[in-house]
Amino acid sequence: MGVVLWRPRKVGGGDSSANLPVTSMPLVAELQATRLEDDSFGPMHDADAQPPDRVSMAPFLEFDTAYDDGLASAAPVPVELAADLRTLRTQVSGCTRCELHQSRTQTVFGSGDESARLLVIGEAPGADEDAQGEPFVGRAGTLLNAMLLGIGLAREQVYIANILKCRPPRNRDPQATEVASCTSYLQQQIALVAPELILAVGRIAAQNLLNVATPIGKLRGSTHTHAASGLPVLVTYHPAYLLRSPVEKRRAWQDLKRVAARLGLAP
Ligand code: URA
Repeated sequence: MGVVLWRPRKVGGGDSSANLPVTSMPLVAELQATRLEDDSFGPMHDADAQPPDRVSMAPFLEFDTAYDDGLASAAPVPVELAADLRTLRTQVSGCTRCELHQSRTQTVFGSGDESARLLVIGEAPGADEDAQGEPFVGRAGTLLNAMLLGIGLAREQVYIANILKCRPPRNRDPQATEVASCTSYLQQQIALVAPELILAVGRIAAQNLLNVATPIGKLRGSTHTHAASGLPVLVTYHPAYLLRSPVEKRRAWQDLKRVAARLGLAP
């Protein structure tokens, strides 16, 4: 059985239209305009700035309401703290603990400031991340970057990781055994980065980090504690969900303002 060691918490502180036929050009411009709007995030999503009917219409939708009850009961692999993130990354790159290693292109360990005050935790790599080896590099990643910038944080100033380090086939939900296999890696990342605050993005990240089956709409808005580290956890919607349901960006903006307040940043 391994030993968990926790470091003390820190204080204080190319143009894609070039080759297209002329007739396609307006469509490209239209798509780019839509994309810009979809990826927008910030004070414009403040509740006060929303028309009242839109506010009252916004439901507490879940990113995905299905929940695998087995998640909480799967036994995690014991944690022995790696010397540093580089060593851990190498260990993870050769991981064969679960079947996902057979279908992955590569592992997606994490990226960002290894001494970040904020650790962002998502669900699992998607196709873009599996191809590039970096978390949140697809469209959801673009929105995540905008969410962070909304509170004055560049992506490089935070550390970003996922519950799973390998892409589940067809982006299906992580299975209990996969989460259990990967948990020790995430726990070591948390210990080695030693952030002041964890932001869980999406239901899967929040429920697994907090070991609960509570819907994400109920987890948002309060500060939770990550049991293994004692670190505070805030919860917000997954950017992929926000791309599908932009009306919820105003709630996510409230969440990001809580993060800013917690870190003493002025949003
Ligand atoms: N969604 C996630 O949860 N993580 C990623 O890295 C990319 C998309």
